[in-house]
Amino acid sequence: MTKDELIALSEKSIIGTYRRQPVLFVRGEGAHLWDIDGKEYIDFVAGIAVCSLGHSHPKVVEAVCRQAGTLMHVSNLYYTEPQIRLAGMLTEHSFADRVFFCNSGAEANEAAIKLARKYGHDKLGGKYEILTMKGSFHGRTLAAITATGQEKFHAGFAPLPEGFRYVPFNDVAALEAAVSEKTCAVLLEPIQGEGGVRVPDEGYLKAVREICDSRGILMILDEVQTGMGRTGKLFGYEHYGVTPDIMTLAKALGNGVPAGALAATEKVAAVFGPGTHASTFGGNPLAMAAAVATLETILADGFLENCAKMGDYLRERLWSLRKDHPAVREVRGKGLLVGLELSVDGNPVVKACLERGVLVNCTFDHVLRMVPPLVVTRPDVDRLVQVLDEVLER
Ligand SMILES: *Cc1c(COP(=O)(O)O)cnc(C)c1O
Repeated sequence: MTKDELIALSEKSIIGTYRRQPVLFVRGEGAHLWDIDGKEYIDFVAGIAVCSLGHSHPKVVEAVCRQAGTLMHVSNLYYTEPQIRLAGMLTEHSFADRVFFCNSGAEANEAAIKLARKYGHDKLGGKYEILTMKGSFHGRTLAAITATGQEKFHAGFAPLPEGFRYVPFNDVAALEAAVSEKTCAVLLEPIQGEGGVRVPDEGYLKAVREICDSRGILMILDEVQTGMGRTGKLFGYEHYGVTPDIMTLAKALGNGVPAGALAATEKVAAVFGPGTHASTFGGNPLAMAAAVATLETILADGFLENCAKMGDYLRERLWSLRKDHPAVREVRGKGLLVGLELSVDGNPVVKACLERGVLVNCTFDHVLRMVPPLVVTRPDVDRLVQVLDEVLER
């Protein structure tokens, strides 16, 4: 089939939940992609902060091929080695004592919400309410959209599950005042990703931790986007001198092979006994082999340093656009989770960059989000900035 035939078939046979760009990709390597016509692109989207090692990273390709030819799936009725190895690595390198595996960010948050409610039921005298943040994003299941503090994701899906309330992000006093006798947990992203790359003040997460401790409730961090090295440290919380009780992971966990995880302290994890939660595919050997190879690479010498260094370089170069382009309002982020806020609609900018062979994405209507593979190079960053310079000129 030709490109036009493929796109026509897509438009009539796939449910229209996405507005797609008119490009069909066939191959990727590192931070570069090629479309069906052979045109090359620099990728500052990375499958929405997923392909952190870059496309077709040899270690992941090797692990997936080897595992696919050995054993792909047997369910969680049995033990499998890749799952056990990943659990060992995640607990060794995080605050967590135990993990639960699933397949996506929404599922990981769904598990976290259930775990917090079960903890409230078993240990906190029946408390069930979860406080979340305005401008947050936690995924698309019913509970995850309800946890998401943005009304546009709720519209048309009532009745939503009970037991969620929203407070402004980065506002300690508002959170303090909102905790009620029914509250069992606070759920938030260390840096809001979909909400426009919002970085909290330095002491905010520590203050959240203190409120949770003083009220005896759980702190849940959604690290689906910030985790696995994206911010220049393995997990976002490491920047802020705190640890949560529960953390959720997905996106970059398998570098493109679907995988999600919930990680928790022993005390909290203990309320999830046999039969309380499950996933048929969760933790299957194929996904876990990809995730082990991904995590080994992230932990290797120099990898996270490059992310931090390139992130600093990218933000510095983006700030430099401000002197010629008044539409550039602000540059935010940590590591390679970077947002450039515009005073104009970002969608035409995304389109114009695509035409020039650079992929960026727009979130919150006017924030260009850049989440490239963490192996992105200076020439790639320079090309992005040159293209933005051209595009913003018009
Ligand atoms: C992407 C994202 C999710 C949802 O992940 P899915 O895998 O799409 O379900 C949840 N939380 C955050 C912070 C995210 O960025």
